Amino acid sequence: MQVGIPRALSYYDFFPFWYGFFSDLGIEIVLSDKTTKKTMSEGSSLVVPETCLPVKIYAGHVLNLLDKGIDKILVPSIQSIAPKIYNCSKIRGLPDLIRNVVKKPFTIIDATLDKSEKNRGLYDFLKEIASYYGITDFERIKKASKSAWRVYNNFQIMRRSGVEYKKALKSAIENKVVIASEQKSYPINIAVIAHGYNLYDDRASMKIFEKLEKLDVKSYTAQNLTVEQMQEGLNAINSRLYWANEYEITGAAAHYIQDKKIDGIITINAFGCGPDSLMLERISRFAQKLNKPILHLSIDEQTGEAGFVTRIEAFVDMLFRKKRSGILNKINLKTAQADKFQVKCRDLI
Ligand code: SF4
Repeated sequence: MQVGIPRALSYYDFFPFWYGFFSDLGIEIVLSDKTTKKTMSEGSSLVVPETCLPVKIYAGHVLNLLDKGIDKILVPSIQSIAPKIYNCSKIRGLPDLIRNVVKKPFTIIDATLDKSEKNRGLYDFLKEIASYYGITDFERIKKASKSAWRVYNNFQIMRRSGVEYKKALKSAIENKVVIASEQKSYPINIAVIAHGYNLYDDRASMKIFEKLEKLDVKSYTAQNLTVEQMQEGLNAINSRLYWANEYEITGAAAHYIQDKKIDGIITINAFGCGPDSLMLERISRFAQKLNKPILHLSIDEQTGEAGFVTRIEAFVDMLFRKKRSGILNKINLKTAQADKFQVKCRDLI
């Protein structure tokens, strides 16, 4: 028994969960290959140009799995993860979109998770997936669900403690929990705010973390935060949960905007993304109010690496200058105070 999982969209957040679930059921996972130029161009050729880059990439990954001969692919319809909290229309309608654009014979495992309209929770969702493999024993599904949560929670714990994404993913699926190694201190700290698929797909994000590291910058993401910290961020920005990714975008950004150790914020959003354009507007206004520098990077399949790097370098350079002038001001202030003190002493003599 095999299941194909496209290495795109929710893969970047939930693969540890799927790994625990399918492994426990004895179903072998076949992942699509990492995103390449070919994945992007093949995916883009299937959908209308206005579609966001992550969905184009997703379509390319489905093709890649079909090329590998996989005939059952998990393309869930994740409508709503909690009452009155919704995913964007593209994620909600993902199975329909794939069915209509990929004209090849294969089985789409299009289980639905919808906690708002249909009150279909996680167990219904998992039961539907398992039924594609003739598994109907609820106890067996419940046990697989427990394994799924164990792997997923271990992954989350490692990420929150600061373990790097790839290392945390590898350790979680090896059923290990590692702790973050001694943290080096960096002159500049930046929070990078984006959906997991825009951050950890090296092709989409153009390896932004490596680029920042080379510039001597420490990066932080939503995955380093607890839900409570992101909720506090939402409260501070006076926003409520509506989009499924509201925590990791609005909540995390608002948290980091208030965090004094963070020198600046970089957001990465896909060109044409409706939810992000709404959330980023709020974030920008909040950053402006608190005087926190912010850089918005928009990506699509035409985005060139050179322009991307130039903008990041210019932003980091500005943060260095800002920090330096802040330190100089403090030194000047101290010198001025010292001068004043000396004058007073002279007067006394
Ligand atoms: S949230 Fe935005 S980037 Fe993500 S799938 Fe929806 S439209 Fe695309």
